[in-house]
Amino acid sequence: MKYVDEFRDPARVRRVLDALWRETTRPWTVMEICGGQTHTIARFGIEDLVPPALTLVHGPGCPVCVTPLETIEAACRIAALPGVILCAFGDMLRVPGLDGDLLAARARGADVRVVTSPVDAVRLAAATPDREVVFYGVGFETTAPATATAALLARRLGLRNFSLLVAHVRVPPAMEMLLADPENRVQAFLAAGHVCTVEGLRDYPALAARFRVPIVVTGFEPLDLLLGLLAAVRQLSAGRHVVENPYDRVVAPDGNPTARAAVDAVYEVADRPWRGLGVVPRGGLALRSAYADLDARRRFPVDVGAVAEPAACRAADVLRGLIKPVACPEFGRACTPDHPLGAPMVSTEGACAAWFQHRRHREAPR
Ligand code: SF4
Repeated sequence: MKYVDEFRDPARVRRVLDALWRETTRPWTVMEICGGQTHTIARFGIEDLVPPALTLVHGPGCPVCVTPLETIEAACRIAALPGVILCAFGDMLRVPGLDGDLLAARARGADVRVVTSPVDAVRLAAATPDREVVFYGVGFETTAPATATAALLARRLGLRNFSLLVAHVRVPPAMEMLLADPENRVQAFLAAGHVCTVEGLRDYPALAARFRVPIVVTGFEPLDLLLGLLAAVRQLSAGRHVVENPYDRVVAPDGNPTARAAVDAVYEVADRPWRGLGVVPRGGLALRSAYADLDARRRFPVDVGAVAEPAACRAADVLRGLIKPVACPEFGRACTPDHPLGAPMVSTEGACAAWFQHRRHREAPR
């Protein structure tokens, strides 16, 4: 298959669904990791199409959702400093800190700009030597190569007015944490295809073997999701637990070595807090000491202090797959995309936003 229509072709979808219904003979719970996959599931009503014995739960794979409130608040405060231009991807602008979001900070006079690439922020720094340009680097293994490239470029250009507010996270350690949780209900994973595009499959065989969970690398179209679920169900039914890669039209077993080399040059693996999960051991990236001068938290030591999450928000349970968004008492009531209480309702990739957009009129809590 080559074209997107083929991955939404009703006849092909019907055939895979028939197999899924035939072969799902016991209750299973499968988690898709990525927020993009969550949106496909919600948008195309995939939960309504699969056998009732197959429970789909949504993972923590939205980088905006897992960025700690403390980091969001730090971004807002750094943006408000005189002389600073804070650059970010557009999805970070509406994520609320303690006193509003970056859009509110901009309305109060902060110079906050949306860029489509961290390299644009480096160019801006080169063009405005009298200003401090900070790029707000949020994301999984997929965006880390771009911010690493920006750091390498800034160093090559000798820029002293460019820095990075780093909030990159790594997915496999979070999967490990979910699986080790005594409350875990996930029996198989649909791994995030775009993360594997960079990282390849290398982290997953040990996870699959240790926790006896099938891990199926999956894309983002409806047929991708259904084929991933079918592969997971076939493994579960057979008592197998290996890594499969039906998304091999995009993901090579060793990923993208060039992108990884850039990341390895600039970052080292570090423990990092994930919103909703707490500190995930080896769950993020930090600038290597050779690049410490590019660290915006060192250059602008804003004191955010301890930050508490809104008490009513059940994001931690949503992100661990323990509840569906609709089971949160605030879903669609106090919490909507226009007035989000928690990050999963803010981001376009967030599970709560996906459910609000696509399922709020047809779903009873379960
Ligand atoms: S619906 Fe809103 S309050 Fe509830 S878990 Fe989601 S983001 Fe938090």
